[in-house]
Amino acid sequence: MTGSESDGGTGTEAENEAGIPADHPRYESLVTRHRIEAGVEAGITSHQGLIAEGRGEAFDYLLGEETIESAARAERVAAAYLLGADWPVLSINGNAAALCPDELVALAAVTGAKLEVNLFDRTAERVERIAAHLREHGAEEVLGIEPAERIPGLSSERGKVAAEGIYAADVVLVPIEDGDRAEALAAMGKTEIVIDLNPLSRSPRSAAVPVIDDVLRAIPNIANYARELSETSPAELDDLIENFDREAALEAAEKRIRTGESSDEAD
Ligand code: ATP
Repeated sequence: MTGSESDGGTGTEAENEAGIPADHPRYESLVTRHRIEAGVEAGITSHQGLIAEGRGEAFDYLLGEETIESAARAERVAAAYLLGADWPVLSINGNAAALCPDELVALAAVTGAKLEVNLFDRTAERVERIAAHLREHGAEEVLGIEPAERIPGLSSERGKVAAEGIYAADVVLVPIEDGDRAEALAAMGKTEIVIDLNPLSRSPRSAAVPVIDDVLRAIPNIANYARELSETSPAELDDLIENFDREAALEAAEKRIRTGESSDEAD
């Protein structure tokens, strides 16, 4: 179901974010749908993005619409990776740009990461619009407008990346990525941090750090951990990274979805 189909009687409220009462039991879900709808209307988010949003929402419902313990740990490790990276890049697609542009710009600032627009359904027009949107939200530099390099193993438009962005990166954060490209990036030797609400999806399963959480919560959480860890020594960051168990993170999220049990019980 798309947001517009499922909002039913709440559609009028959702027309204006400020018009959604903050005490509405589905407040965050309505805000999310509204942002994605607005993203589609503004030519930032693709129609496929609407489907991805619906899929993510179902998993979020089963996760309890909160950042589970194992995801919070993964978010802290993601911050450690970004801080310790030589060339960190945040890959931005139409959903991420519509949902949390301020938070992405803030995360880039606190970690020194570059922002690159990287789309599954790439059109020059949509890339331009997303870049402009990010700049309106404070981004100084946005890569990916005229990508000169390719991710090996991916055809045509889907594989295009910026030479001074994802192509050169050692650590790439990819929110809401499709499985194929996530696997191709991992095969290039990139350390991938994947944010995805579905722990069974190929994207988080190919990631060094699978973050099973909503991007709207995950991005600000990672930025907060990065602020907290900004004075941490490289050796301590390495320690955090080495002690992270990616399989346990995936299992904890799957257990929460299947049984409703707290992730801690699965650790
Ligand atoms: P794969 O090939 O790996 O299975 P996929 O086909 O599931 O990938 P898509 O259909 O493009 O990939 O779905 C997008 C993914 O993004 C879904 O797994 C969905 O759970 C996730 N997703 C959607 N919205 C959000 C969000 N707001 N935060 C985090 N993840 C999200």
